[in-house]
Amino acid sequence: MNYKNVTIAGSGVLGSQIAFQTAFKGFNVTIYDIDDTAIAKAKERIAKLEDTYSDYFRDEQEAVKSAQSRISYATVLADAVKDADLVIEAVPEIKEIKQSFYTQLGKVAPEKTVFATNSSTMLPSDFVEYTGRPEKFLALHFANTIWKNNTGEVMEHPGTDPQVVQDLLAFAAAIGMVPLHIKKEQPGYIVNSLLVPFLDAAQSLWGNDVADPETVDKTWMIATGAPLGPFAIMDVVGLQTVYNIVSTKAAHHPNPDDNLYKRIADKVKTEFLDQGKTGTQTGEGFYKY
Ligand code: NAD
Repeated sequence: MNYKNVTIAGSGVLGSQIAFQTAFKGFNVTIYDIDDTAIAKAKERIAKLEDTYSDYFRDEQEAVKSAQSRISYATVLADAVKDADLVIEAVPEIKEIKQSFYTQLGKVAPEKTVFATNSSTMLPSDFVEYTGRPEKFLALHFANTIWKNNTGEVMEHPGTDPQVVQDLLAFAAAIGMVPLHIKKEQPGYIVNSLLVPFLDAAQSLWGNDVADPETVDKTWMIATGAPLGPFAIMDVVGLQTVYNIVSTKAAHHPNPDDNLYKRIADKVKTEFLDQGKTGTQTGEGFYKY
């Protein structure tokens, strides 16, 4: 892996974090976003991240302070990628936006450039035909607050060059992630393949009135030694997100007016959301913080 120049496309929640982390670890970073307004927001996010990193990495003040000097900004894609060894795509989780982004990127990026998607719910196969370079395309998936939740899930599709996979694993390590190789396409990668059914099971215990959230969490923590139970995890995810997911499932049920998902969604709404309790962000959800 001899990457030096990395372009981050999309500078929202995740893109800005990936950009700062990559610059913090010494790479040259170009942030690409659609217009000047988006770039102005990106600059604000980057400034805030500098403060966060400064608090978190107390012994690495030099690297934190110099990170911004390695970041540049662009709104023209061809300029943003002209020297890029790697483009990490963090544009919105909307299929059409990503497809049109890869169609443009494939045309203007140099031949050497590797493309990696940070998509949480879509697969490299969903976009590979638009990239024009299947062997140099794969997923590199980060978790929110990447400086402390530093998973770097590297997921290939059947056409990815094995050397590119090895390079990305090495790159993930070089920017301070724990490199995790996912050898086949898997919706939800590893974390959500485990977490979604786990949270689902916990919700069913609550929705069927088998046990209270506190009892479910206590049982799980004592029995396995885990630091948090599923309901405490839902507070971190945010109860609005939990509600959105469970109501979508309810709506797709053969009987959308009466099913377990609907009962769970109604409980989340009336017992929490209607009272402004959305989880750790508002200081209260299943627990008080
Ligand atoms: P976001 O909405 O915060 O940011 C998206 C950014 O993309 C915005 O700055 C927007 O201006 C920009 N954008 C829009 N259209 C664009 C285009 N055509 N070209 C370039 N930039 C464009 O989104 P996010 O939460 O950062 O998510 C981005 C990606 O990261 C998604 O694929 C998501 O699944 C993934 N992801 C998100 C999280 C998370 O917790 N938010 C975690 C892991 C992965």
